[in-house]
Amino acid sequence: MNLTAHKTDRSGLGEVLRQRGRRMTRQRQAVYDAVIATGGHPSAEQVFERVRRQLPRVSLATVYNSLEALVDCGQLSRVPRTDHGPARYDPRRDAHHHARCVACSKVWDIDDKALAVRTVAALRGFKPVGYKVEVLIECPTSCPGDSRVCVSTGPAKRR
Ligand SMILES: [Zn+2]
Ligand SMILES: [Zn+2]
Repeated sequence: MNLTAHKTDRSGLGEVLRQRGRRMTRQRQAVYDAVIATGGHPSAEQVFERVRRQLPRVSLATVYNSLEALVDCGQLSRVPRTDHGPARYDPRRDAHHHARCVACSKVWDIDDKALAVRTVAALRGFKPVGYKVEVLIECPTSCPGDSRVCVSTGPAKRR
């Protein structure tokens, strides 16, 4: 059944879900497509905003549950929430590092795979078996819309 006209690479997604005992639903497909379409690391809210354009009656809870189901099935990875922002969802499943803006919580990929491994190994002779590093940063230029600090609109409060 052809439910949408999107042309993303979704081949195999339904199959993977089925193998994990989960059904591919229209919502899950839309959620997955939305994560891919953002091209970054969207929060559940950002995915919700996008999915809602396609499925106006979808709820944030459904989007959240779909995201978690896709994480459980290994189709997305989750960048955990921190003091600096909510959990983000990542279509990349290979091990890589992240940089997160402390103001707007936007997340970037960092592809220096040796970064943390080298440091940890050097520290005490630990033997790294996996890694997940999140570097806190400030946006290099301007933050996206949900910023509180990085984007200055209007006169700055300084003397
Ligand atoms: Zn990433
Ligand atoms: Zn920012």
